[in-house]
Amino acid sequence: MTGSCRPGPLPGAGLLDDRTRELDGCCRELAAGFRDAAMALDRDPDAIAGYLHLPGVRLNQFAHIPPEYRPELDFPPRVLDAAATSLGWAVLWEQLGYGDPGVTLAGPRPGLFGEVLSALTGQRQSGHYFRRLATAPSNTFFALTEPGKGSAAAELETTLAPATDGDGWILNGEKCYVGNGARAAVGVVMCRRGTGLFGIEAVALESGTPGFSAELLPAMGLRGARISRLRFDNVRIPRENVLGGQLAPTRRGLAGVLPVLNRSRPPVAAMAIGCAKAVCDYVAQQRPTLAKAGRLRLEDMLDRIDATRRLIHRACVAIDHGRMDSDRAAAVKVQAAHIAEEATLLAAELLGPASLIEHPWMEKTYRDVRAFEFTEGTTNIHRLSLFRCLRKNAYP
Ligand SMILES: Cc1cc2nc3c(=O)[nH]c(=O)nc-3n(C[C@H](O)[C@H](O)[C@H](O)COP(=O)(O)OP(=O)(O)OC[C@H]3O[C@@H](n4cnc5c(N)ncnc54)[C@H](O)[C@@H]3O)c2cc1C
Repeated sequence: MTGSCRPGPLPGAGLLDDRTRELDGCCRELAAGFRDAAMALDRDPDAIAGYLHLPGVRLNQFAHIPPEYRPELDFPPRVLDAAATSLGWAVLWEQLGYGDPGVTLAGPRPGLFGEVLSALTGQRQSGHYFRRLATAPSNTFFALTEPGKGSAAAELETTLAPATDGDGWILNGEKCYVGNGARAAVGVVMCRRGTGLFGIEAVALESGTPGFSAELLPAMGLRGARISRLRFDNVRIPRENVLGGQLAPTRRGLAGVLPVLNRSRPPVAAMAIGCAKAVCDYVAQQRPTLAKAGRLRLEDMLDRIDATRRLIHRACVAIDHGRMDSDRAAAVKVQAAHIAEEATLLAAELLGPASLIEHPWMEKTYRDVRAFEFTEGTTNIHRLSLFRCLRKNAYP
């Protein structure tokens, strides 16, 4: 028994337009398929290979491939187009996260690699990769974090130096905790060509390039993310793989990627509240005659999930209207990660003393949601920037 897996309509989702509402309805059906795969992936994340046919995996795979490169699919184009917006991405990931966050992250998709391509490169260069990702399902990676330089991303030490023979660049260094890093066909590596923030570049790297190696890291939870350690030992980077070379230093590299990271925070927040909602529904299903005190605590948690959803959607609508509000995006990620952890603590308490032994799905979710604290920046770091924003009286 792995619990109910029909999330139902999103309460507090008043900001959804018609096509996003249609996407929401479509996603609700898709989460169900994820629940069976969830436990298999927890044992072996590479088991995703047996679930690539799931409609939810396929929608997640193609939603962020621009329409001109997509093959003919079973989903209505307007649903796919809706999923490509920030609001649609949040709706998609909440519902898929309700099914299982590990399956959502393990499936092939352009991910942040695709987002970086769209942000930094022209159609010729991004088209080359999107066409490829549309025809051959592949994982991708986005490598920023380094051992000892996680939160201090602007201090990264992986180097990009001119090749002595004048043919492109040479990459050296190491990255860690990179999602799907050891299973991806291609990805983007953030690396240092010069000093300071504007000395950081984004380069595209094919996983088969000599000198590149990657290994999966052991993980307690969210194993479907397949966090990996990457090493670059004199890896040659062709000149054209330095992404955004045509842009000013202030608009490429880490400076150019920051808006991409901001845009990806609300969907991660949505995935976290999808998990929280799934946990609450599971408790309600397992304990239909819960005592009043317990029922009230569960209802309070559901209210907080709904309130957080509204904040997530507001952040997404602002992004879709071209207002990149990094503090709001950070705030919703912090709030949602906290709620997801709290929901699992509450569920473990309401289900009883041996709940994490008696309910394997619950135990897995309990481990999984703790990863949201770290993905897309830790709570402390976001709180520091929120504090600075509040001090300036600039919080929107
Ligand atoms: C599931 C998952 C997927 C991930 N995917 C990717 C990926 O695809 N690509 C990628 O590049 N990275 C990825 N990461 C890495 C993630 O971005 C980092 O874990 C995160 O940035 C934190 O870095 P760190 O783990 O080195 O922790 P650290 O930066 O060492 O932080 C450890 C603790 O110290 C606190 N801390 C650090 N600095 C300060 C400070 N100045 N003030 C107060 N407190 C502080 C932090 O809040 C945290 O609690 C992923 C992580 C997870 C868990």
